[in-house]
Amino acid sequence: MLIRSGDLVEVRSGNARGTRAKVLSVVAAKDPEGAVRLVVEGVNRVYRHVRRSQKNPQGGRLSKELPIDASNVLVVCTACGKAARLGARTGADGGKVRYCRKCDADLGVLRRPRAARAKTGG
Ligand SMILES: [Zn+2]
Repeated sequence: MLIRSGDLVEVRSGNARGTRAKVLSVVAAKDPEGAVRLVVEGVNRVYRHVRRSQKNPQGGRLSKELPIDASNVLVVCTACGKAARLGARTGADGGKVRYCRKCDADLGVLRRPRAARAKTGG
């Protein structure tokens, strides 16, 4: 999965089609072939009715976002501003970077080069 939390994405289908919003979290698939889901700010909001409890003494209706399928969004490129698919390639330093398939701009490091990881253990 090339989408990270904090990315600006454009929703491509459903009620929120066309909306651009920030990814709040990436929900890992439960099984190896399962689809990755994303919580996107303001998209797929629902009301949950919550019983009163110690944590929530008032109870009532709580508005929250539910995850949507990652295949329904495209990342908005920070360089060209278009909603684009992402690719992954090896960068100049041997690390792995992702890039915009429309304008070819680098959009952040996915994995640092082997040498750098060995030094810091990350
Ligand atoms: Zn671009």
